[in-house]
Amino acid sequence: MRPEPFFSGPGLDRADQLRGTPERIAELAERDDARQLVWRDGLPEMDECGRLVWTQISDPVLFLGLNGDAPRFSPLAEAASQAFSVMPLLAQLDAADAPLFAAALSLVRWHSRHSYCANCGHQTDTVRGGWSRSCPNCGAEHFPRVDPVAIMLIEHEGRLLLGRQPHYPEHRYSALAGFIEVGESIENAVAREVKEEVGIDVGDVHYVASQPWPFPSSLMIGCHSQALNGDLTIDRNELEDARWFTRDEVRQSLSGGCSAPFQAPPPSAIARTLLEDWLNA
Ligand SMILES: [Zn+2]
Repeated sequence: MRPEPFFSGPGLDRADQLRGTPERIAELAERDDARQLVWRDGLPEMDECGRLVWTQISDPVLFLGLNGDAPRFSPLAEAASQAFSVMPLLAQLDAADAPLFAAALSLVRWHSRHSYCANCGHQTDTVRGGWSRSCPNCGAEHFPRVDPVAIMLIEHEGRLLLGRQPHYPEHRYSALAGFIEVGESIENAVAREVKEEVGIDVGDVHYVASQPWPFPSSLMIGCHSQALNGDLTIDRNELEDARWFTRDEVRQSLSGGCSAPFQAPPPSAIARTLLEDWLNA
């Protein structure tokens, strides 16, 4: 069974068929059961149970979709883009609301940064319930961006390669990752990133699972690959360290505790899902 990382569930019914006209969106916003998302400090607000907080409609700019039959909206807001400061909050977020949290955060932040046409510089208008922006001057249509990132487990003789970046919490090791560049396949990006960061060649790259990561708009594409050799040449500009870990060390670390060989990534990170999936395979 394919593992489902945090943020990856279906979330709301996005109801694309209802986004077509401003009149249709306005009708939805006027319904008694319509609600809009509450924002606080750059994030969708959560209650004490980690569920998202909704209120009566006052500024229904973005049509997020349907919860059952009930329309759900968001106002425009100033959205946070940095994951590290909100990691403790993510630990409280209910997994059932995580996909909507991710969609709303990425969408709201995109609007706050893309008011002007990249083609001609004119101010653009929000259309399709906020799922695109249209330029009244040159006719260009702009869609919320998604930035693909390859994140990979690398295996060699039964051990896994994990690395740590300088900004990680103490003892944290995690999967290597990097943005996929234009004109590059997922497989090529995995091979290039691994070669750049730790100097080894990989083959047999295959897809495991993916995760929207809303800081600000990444799509994490989780892969597994086999290293063709085990000798590391670490790029110290990218990584503070990288090491091979045995299956027992990974298992112990996922269980946590003071004697764990490393601090595993948190449950909200797809890296943890990949490690759990590898142990269960
Ligand atoms: Zn334009």
